[in-house]
Amino acid sequence: MTGNTTFTMIKPDAFAAGSTGLILNKIIENGFKIKALRLTALSKEKAEAFYAVHSERPFFNSLVEFMTSGPIVAAILEKENAVENFRKLIGATNPADAAEGTIRKLYATSIQYNAVHGSDSDENALIEGNFFFNQFDRH
Ligand code: GDP
Repeated sequence: MTGNTTFTMIKPDAFAAGSTGLILNKIIENGFKIKALRLTALSKEKAEAFYAVHSERPFFNSLVEFMTSGPIVAAILEKENAVENFRKLIGATNPADAAEGTIRKLYATSIQYNAVHGSDSDENALIEGNFFFNQFDRH
C-alpha cells in the first residue's frame, strides 16, 4: 500500500531565481494539497544530515555548500500515491533527462542545481517531513 504524503523542498537555486510561486502553483495545479509550508535555511550540519546517504559521493561537499547557500522552502504535500506522483511531476534528477513539463525541466539548470527535492519513499517522506516540521511548533 502506498501513502498519501510526500515532502518537498524548493532548493536555493529556484528560490533565488524567484520561481517559488510558480513551482507551488504547479504543485497545486497537479492536485497536491499543501499540508505544511515553511521558508527556512539549512545549516551545514542539517544539510549534511539530510543528505547523509550521499556522504561518500564525490559531489557531497558541493551539494552541502549549494543547499546551505540561501533560503529554501520546505513543504509537506498530500495526494494519493504521493511519493510516486510527485517524483513524476518533478522529473529526472538531471534536468537534461527530465520530461517536458516537469518542474526540473522548467526550472532546474543542472544536475546539482535542480530546483526541487522530492522524497523517494514513504518512509523517507515521513523522516524528511519530521526534519522540518513539528506539530508543537509555534512562533
Ligand atoms: P534526487 O532524488 O532526484 O534528488 O537525486 P539524488 O538523491 O540522487 O541526489 C540528491 C541531490 O544531489 C540531487 O537532487 C542533486 O541536487 C545532487 N546530485 C545528484 N547527483 C549529482 C551529481 O552527479 N553531481 C552533482 N554535483 N550533484 C548531484
